Amino acid sequence: MTPHLDPAAAEEIDRDLARLTRRDGRLALALGETMERFARLAGPAKLGYSSRKAYTTQVVGQPARWVGDMCALARRLQELPLTRAALAAGTIGRSMAALLAGHATPETELALLLEAKRTTVARMKERLANAAKQAAEADDSCDDEEQPRSTIETTVPLDHVWAYEGIKLLMASAFGVRGDEAAEYLLAEAAIALSMLDPELDVPVAPPRHPNAKGHHEQREMDAACRKAAEEAAEPGLDLSREEDGGDSDDDGPLTPIDELSDDVYVLHQKLKALGMTFGRRDLELGQLADTFWAARGWKVLGYATETQYCRERLGLSKSSVRKRIELARDIDQLPAVTQALEGGRIGFEAATMIARHAHTSRGFGKAELAREWVERARARTVVHLREELDVAKTRRRLELEDASLAPPDEAAVQEFQELRAMALKGEMFVPSKQPLADGFQLFVTGAELKRRLAEGRTDTKAGAIGCQPPPAPPRLPSSHGDGPQPMRRVRLNLPDDLARWYRRLNRDWQVLSSEHDNLGTTFLEFLCMAMATSWRHIVEAARDVKWADIYARDGYRCVSPVCTRSDVTLHHLRFRSRGGGHEASNTASLCSCCHLELVHDRAAIRAEPPAETIRWLLGKVPQLEVLGRELKQAA
Ligand SMILES: [Zn+2]
Repeated sequence: MTPHLDPAAAEEIDRDLARLTRRDGRLALALGETMERFARLAGPAKLGYSSRKAYTTQVVGQPARWVGDMCALARRLQELPLTRAALAAGTIGRSMAALLAGHATPETELALLLEAKRTTVARMKERLANAAKQAAEADDSCDDEEQPRSTIETTVPLDHVWAYEGIKLLMASAFGVRGDEAAEYLLAEAAIALSMLDPELDVPVAPPRHPNAKGHHEQREMDAACRKAAEEAAEPGLDLSREEDGGDSDDDGPLTPIDELSDDVYVLHQKLKALGMTFGRRDLELGQLADTFWAARGWKVLGYATETQYCRERLGLSKSSVRKRIELARDIDQLPAVTQALEGGRIGFEAATMIARHAHTSRGFGKAELAREWVERARARTVVHLREELDVAKTRRRLELEDASLAPPDEAAVQEFQELRAMALKGEMFVPSKQPLADGFQLFVTGAELKRRLAEGRTDTKAGAIGCQPPPAPPRLPSSHGDGPQPMRRVRLNLPDDLARWYRRLNRDWQVLSSEHDNLGTTFLEFLCMAMATSWRHIVEAARDVKWADIYARDGYRCVSPVCTRSDVTLHHLRFRSRGGGHEASNTASLCSCCHLELVHDRAAIRAEPPAETIRWLLGKVPQLEVLGRELKQAA
């Protein structure tokens, strides 16, 4: 049952939404331009960040790709002053500005702007595409039809869950492949393995393509409706100088002309931080308003044909960006701690989204309390570390490690996770299957092996690969890891539809094959892991011989800077060799080439004091961020 919204109420919310998003254009421009200036002055490097993206994640708290798009837009608009002014004044939305930026020149700008005022983004896009005989790729934000997703559930022995988690750790850490991409890799390897095992089977080696959802006819109908709605909604005149209507410029004042932006990276840094907070609050307000409006299909009430059309034409935003904000608003609705932290600018959009999603996986009571604990944790962590710790909690839960809860993990749990990751990275789960299946074809990997080695590491009194702290005692492995019957566990895979279809198809082929062979592994999920491990084993084994491989595996083949996620690691001596530092594990750390060579050695923008187990980080030539171990001490 759709909640009712009468036209007057719909119009009121619509006005608020439009007001919010009009300001959004100006704020986005300010963000893009400030970030451009900051980057041109090497701001990220001076403050100890290996990239603009790393800086954005930590300081601005908005999706890095989106901020990147805003920078690109700001760059283009430097040559198009009228379009810039129109966006700043809220006369055109971001979708239209992005479209014009891709096509206009200083000569054609005014004519296009006048036209833009009378038409819709969809129609303008079509016209420009025809005129220029080229697709309007620049308007990325308009093509936001995401593929639908499906959830696949499969019930497997707990050991196979271990194998699957181990393979995922390996793929993510050693090869930087995760999420949908990882699923695609797994399925591709399984398809190849299946066709090698039985060339007679007609195995699809690529995902079946998603049929084009939007037919030509439907598109035409939509455009017609679009024109109509735009004619009704269009505001008269093109006033480039128009400032805020309603005079609610509470926090940001007029847009600073770009050539008057400061040359001091620390000043720009403060401005970017403030913009990040403003956006966080804006995201929340936008999401809450849009949620009410969406629930009642307010765009229909006001005569727009579709949701996409309303977002693009009226709000100037892509559907997906509005949807994300609605999701956030819904997710944090019953999580007051997250709402307050976001409103107060203590956490950003990204952190709020991560925490809310995590809290909801608990499914039961105590969500609000769980969220509160994570908000508390978020305040003492960089975004990179927060994401990692959420991952630790989730992985531990899936592996049923003892004491596993969804709450923030303690030091020992993080360490245990890192140890497990190091084992997966070193290929310690690779054990050949008992007999080869076909000539030269053997499958590797068992989750049981990974479990056994983790237990061994725990009972062993030696300090593990991880460093100096003794392993936690007593061993916290689930008691079920013997030879007895395996407990069965449900695994959920959420995949884009084309991958889900591929999964089901390969699963069927595998069922056929496994009825003929009795050693393919016992579930399709394990077979996926085995196919992957079999094909990548040589790379992992070769990597073991690389100098410092143990240190890299300990650090997960990731730069250990608390704000960096790069994986092109090099060995860094925390106490420099020139000052007598040695090769011992506690004096060595994996840093990416940028953090290591440029930021530590060339610019002295990162200071990292030993020991490796609890590095004291000072980021910024004039330090702006201090982290001790994982503890965020201070952020200026
Ligand atoms: Zn780095």
